[in-house]
This record gives sequence, structure tokens and C-alpha cells, in this order.
Amino acid sequence: MLAEVRGLNEECGVFGIWGHEDAAQITYYGLQSLQHRGQEGAGIVATDGKHLHGVKGEGLVTEVFTQKKVQELPGFGAIGHVRYTTAGGGGYENVQPLLFHSQSGSLALAHNGNLINATSLKHQLEGQGSIFQTTSDTEVLAHLIRRGGFGTMKDQVKHALSMLKGAYAFLIMTENELMVALDPNGLRPLSIGQLGEAFCVASETCAFDIVGAKFIRDVEPGELLIINKDGMRSERFSMATNQSICTMEYVYFSRPDSDIHGINVHSARKRSGIQLAKEMNIEADVVTGVPDSSISAAIGFAEATGIPYEMGLIKNRYVGRTFIQPSQSLREQGVKMKLSPVRGVVEGKRVVMVDDSIVRGTTSRRIVKMLKDAGALEVHVCITSPPIKNPCYYGIDTSTREELISASHSVEELRQAIGADSLTFLSVEGLIEAIGHEKQNSHCGQCLACFTGEYPTEILPDTMHPHDKELMC
Ligand code: SF4
Repeated sequence: MLAEVRGLNEECGVFGIWGHEDAAQITYYGLQSLQHRGQEGAGIVATDGKHLHGVKGEGLVTEVFTQKKVQELPGFGAIGHVRYTTAGGGGYENVQPLLFHSQSGSLALAHNGNLINATSLKHQLEGQGSIFQTTSDTEVLAHLIRRGGFGTMKDQVKHALSMLKGAYAFLIMTENELMVALDPNGLRPLSIGQLGEAFCVASETCAFDIVGAKFIRDVEPGELLIINKDGMRSERFSMATNQSICTMEYVYFSRPDSDIHGINVHSARKRSGIQLAKEMNIEADVVTGVPDSSISAAIGFAEATGIPYEMGLIKNRYVGRTFIQPSQSLREQGVKMKLSPVRGVVEGKRVVMVDDSIVRGTTSRRIVKMLKDAGALEVHVCITSPPIKNPCYYGIDTSTREELISASHSVEELRQAIGADSLTFLSVEGLIEAIGHEKQNSHCGQCLACFTGEYPTEILPDTMHPHDKELMC
């Protein structure tokens, strides 16, 4: 669905490259392919071996960077970031990569995820004299590294990482080294690729296809990769790992042409549509998917039921970001601006509307109404994930239960609220089956917390919204 109006937003994408003479230019292309992961800010920092140079700004990659600005970033190594508002809020200073200069050298950081103990670490660090330049949780890592004391940079980074809790895919760059770290639960996707002699790293493999790099492998939970003039080597900063990749990456966030842990996202979505069809009975005339993320699932659903797939909804692709506003009323207006029903397809028909998830319910209600206004006789809403009942603390912006309509409504209440003729969710087991991970642990290597409430890490009180803390008490 449309990230801006859905109320479920990914909070960043990262791309890095080491050992290429056009490092910043390649990073620019990599970031463009990750644009769906964040549209509020973008930045690139490059190194020429002596200095780190950075350009960043609010807006889309193409709005922040002109060709001239990319050329102002010479060097053989670069990291880049696209951002949705992470913990700490928006504003220019929070756009990444964050860049720090000190007498011992410079440091650039790009982060995808959310640190659940950032608040308490920040208090501790401020108590010891640290002065923070941003309100972003990411800056905590820079201070921890700088306060790491003795040892090599790598030792300081490992020590700092061992103090973090939560979800993080980090790119850490100095003048002559790129380090890549993934949290011990591997909550966010992160892959390594190769472009000639150069190494690349990206939140999604679709970035490798765009820049012509070859996929090597996924970064492992608790792994620290060190890339420099001697090549790439792998070390561990944590042995206590428990693979728990975010299930919503398959359901909604990632691009369909990306592979996560060897599973193609489009194929996983298509199987979830097939699985949902197995779990229900329906009589209808057409199946339509809510663009873009639900089209794969709608094709699978149509294939499994024999009900023809039709393009019943069209995305208005050239609507400017001006209309993307966080308030509820403007968000509702945004749905109208961004989607249109195809009257000729839905009029006089019983329509199955396949969508990937329901967060607040507002978007679903609007789309159902839109289809009915266009003449649909019935609208059956089929959701290819289970009800989202629990907030995410790992970098997705559903941070309170209050915002989640399934936390307080039964399926029947929700059906009535969105005005659908029927409403069906895929089961947790069905979703696991559809994605197709091996049963490496009880949760098949996936985080399912927003559906089940079983979080793969401890949840610290300073992570929670005050309302949720009350509910926990
Ligand atoms: S709680 Fe949900 S959205 Fe958050 S990481 Fe887990 S599966 Fe992903």
C-alpha cells in the first residue's frame, strides 16, 4: 500500500560501497532504489582516504542531490541513507548519515532500525559530559564509540555495539574503513554485494540490481564486517544471536524484486495470497490488489480461487509529496489523492479487495467506500497478514497500541468500521507457511511480534508510549 497514507512506515534504508572510484555516484543510485524505505531525508558521506565529506537534506534523493552535489563527494568509499522520521523526530540535523569530526579522526554513521535503550544510554552519556547534536537515537553509538577508550577502532565499535539493545543495521565509516553491523536478532534486512573489486552493502538486494552488483550473502545477526584496503573480513560482536527478521519486510515494506534470506519478496506475497484463498471460501466476480504492495498477493489469490484478477484500483503516481501530511484528516485526503477506482472494472461486480495489512483502519474504510462509490455491489476485504495488535519497537512507526485498530476491535467490529461485506485475515501459521523459512527456531527465524505480542528482545519501559506502559502495569 501507500506508505504515506497507511500509517505503517519503514524508517530507513542504507547503502554503502568501498573500493570504487565513483563511490558517491553509485551510492546515489543505490539510495534511489531504496527510496520506498524513507522519503523525508537523504544523505551521502564519502571518503577520499583523508577526509569525510557529506551532503544531506530533507526530501527525496532527487530533491537533495543534483549531479553537482554528488560530484562534490570524491572518494572510493561512501555510505548513504534514506530516512523516514526515526526515534527523535524530524529536522535537518537528524538526517543521516550523521558526521562527527574529532581530533582522532572523523566518523560517519547510517542506521536502519531503532535502539530500545537509547533514552537510558543517552542519560548516562550526558551525565558523563557528552553533548548531543541531534535528537536521533543513532547518535548514541557515536558517543559510545568515542568513549570506548583504549584499543583499535574495531574494539571500540564492538564494545559500543555490545551496549545497544533493539534493532540496528549500522554502516560506520572512517577515513579508511567501512564497518557493517547487524543486531543479534537480525531484525532488519542487510545484504552484501560485489561490484568488480568493490564491496557493497544495502538494506535490500534490489539496490544491487540497480548498480550492477552481484549479491554475495546476507549479513548475519551479531556480525561485524570490516572492509578496508585489505579486503573484507567478518567478526562477531555477539554470540547470543536469535535470527528474527521482520516479517513485515515480506508483507509490505520491501520491494517485490528484493530477496530477503534467499526468499523473493514478490513470491512470498503471491504465496500469501494463495494461502489466504485456502483459508477461506468466497464467491466474487473480480479480485483486485491495493497498489503497489498487494498486487503480488492479489495475483496469487486470483490464481488459487479462479476468480479473475483485474486492475480495480490505480495509483496516481505523480501526486507530489506536498499532500503527505501526518494529521489524520490530511492522511484521509491523501488516500483520495493517491488512489482511484477503475469504474469500468468494479461497477456491478462483487469485488475481492486484497490488501497486506490494516493499521488504523482509515485507509481500508476509504478504499472500500471508493470502490462502492464506483459501483461495486460487494467489497470483500482480504488481508494477507494477521491482525496487527501490538506496537513495533524496532523501527516501524506504530509505537502505540492506541493507533492499532485491531488491538481494540474484533474482526467483526472492524469489518463494520471499514464498511466491508466481509473481512478475512491470514493466520499467523499461514503467513509463516507462505513466506517459507526453514523451521530454524520456534518462530522460523522471523519476528512476528506485531501479530503475536512475542517480542524477540526484552522491551524496556523507556521504549514504550506512556499509554502502553499503563496497559502493561
Ligand atoms: S514487530 Fe512487526 S513490524 Fe516490528 S520488527 Fe517485528 S514483525 Fe516487523
